[in-house]
Amino acid sequence: MSTTPEDRSGLSTETIAELHKQAVAVAGQAYAPYSNFRVGAALLLATGEIVIGCNVENASYRLTTCAEQSAIATAVSQYGPTIKLRAVAVANLNGTASQPCGACRQTILEFSTPETWIFYPAEDGTIAVTSMSEMLPAGFHLAH
Ligand SMILES: [Zn+2]
Repeated sequence: MSTTPEDRSGLSTETIAELHKQAVAVAGQAYAPYSNFRVGAALLLATGEIVIGCNVENASYRLTTCAEQSAIATAVSQYGPTIKLRAVAVANLNGTASQPCGACRQTILEFSTPETWIFYPAEDGTIAVTSMSEMLPAGFHLAH
């Protein structure tokens, strides 16, 4: 018996599909002239809003902003510093499996709860789901 993304996350098939659809759509906005790796992220906030972001590359390469970080900056800008993430869906237009990079895992952790779930394209072409604690088991926390 397998555990479905719906079972693990407690989110409906429709919600997961909507997040994926919005992540794919915003990936089309990506500024990725150097890598051509076009990524989109759709955040589901704990309050129900969906916020999207795409990757924005730079000629210096190291100044590139990932889709997840772009979306989180937008979410904080729109809804303030107390946002919490219920889910993060990432997608790309390159037809490849990809999970959030290490830097994004730490960025997502900052706004996560034990109920935050990450959806990403898996090796087999399906949408996989993981928890923050699985994706970043020893994340950095600073008391404040
Ligand atoms: Zn990243």
